[in-house]
Amino acid sequence: MNTTPELSFEFFPPRSVEGSENLMAVHAELMRFEPHFVSVTYGAGGSTQDGTFDAVKNMLATGSSTAPHLTGVGTSRDDIKSIIQGYLELGVKRLVVLRGDLPGGMVERGHFKYAEQLVQFVRDEFGDDLHLEVAAYPDFHPESTSPSNDIQYLKRKFDAGANSAITQYFYNADSYFSFIDEVQRAGISAPIVPGIMPITNYATLTRFSDACGAEIPRWIRARLEQYQHDELSLKAFGLDVVTHLCFDLLDNGVPGLHFYTLNKTEPVQDICKLIGFEQTN
Ligand code: FAD
Repeated sequence: MNTTPELSFEFFPPRSVEGSENLMAVHAELMRFEPHFVSVTYGAGGSTQDGTFDAVKNMLATGSSTAPHLTGVGTSRDDIKSIIQGYLELGVKRLVVLRGDLPGGMVERGHFKYAEQLVQFVRDEFGDDLHLEVAAYPDFHPESTSPSNDIQYLKRKFDAGANSAITQYFYNADSYFSFIDEVQRAGISAPIVPGIMPITNYATLTRFSDACGAEIPRWIRARLEQYQHDELSLKAFGLDVVTHLCFDLLDNGVPGLHFYTLNKTEPVQDICKLIGFEQTN
């Protein structure tokens, strides 16, 4: 087992004052696990851009290492430059660099058609100081033309200057391990940190998974369907499934665990405690 797997927590930008207060309370509680960094998502095509900036600013002000997500699709080079300059002035040292998906109605993809081009642009314009995370997909990206193409495109993101990757969530550890084997065979040695999605709601998880291509194994989906109107049983089952997944990953030496918090404390806190991480006072 890896002796120092690093935790990281992902949040989304709130849309109200109440949401912002809630987010900072969740952030404060999860910071007691002393994560390696936290990150804040970003709406492709500009939506929630201000919300991301404000949340990143608030989190950095508490002293937490905070990585904004940045999407390239539908955004100009000048806009990307000024967004990054704004983050550098705040003290940002890490970015999660993504292609993003165009919001409905937008058709113009712009200069950054793939994340690889955005990674290259950030390196060309801002040098090597920023740590750049990119996305990886053990269950493969929904637009993927083949598993090996997906891995070659991931390699191009590293060749363009990415430092490490965070995966889309998955519930089958073997899909991650087989993906890592392929990735290593393709010559990628950078850390690929598994993304972990707690299970707390049937409708949201299935809708989201269908959209992003994350596979929910049939036996899990069937149980979640059975428990969809029984919140306590669903949460207990979800906790059990995700805790076992994390143990399996940790036992096999993953470099870290990146939690999709959905701006909630308890699901992540419960899992982290069960798998042996402690909170400071
Ligand atoms: P890419 O790496 O560009 O890949 C997209 C697709 O294009 C893949 O199918 C790939 O195989 C293919 N491809 C790549 N390069 C080429 C090429 N040269 N030629 C042909 N095909 C190619 N979305 C948001 O809007 N905001 C967020 O904050 C956000 N955060 C995320 C965080 C994580 C950890 C993950 C896993 C996803 C996140 N997403 C976010 C979703 C992401 O934007 C979508 O999954 C998007 O569809 C792909 O982004 P990417 O960076 O993986 O794209």
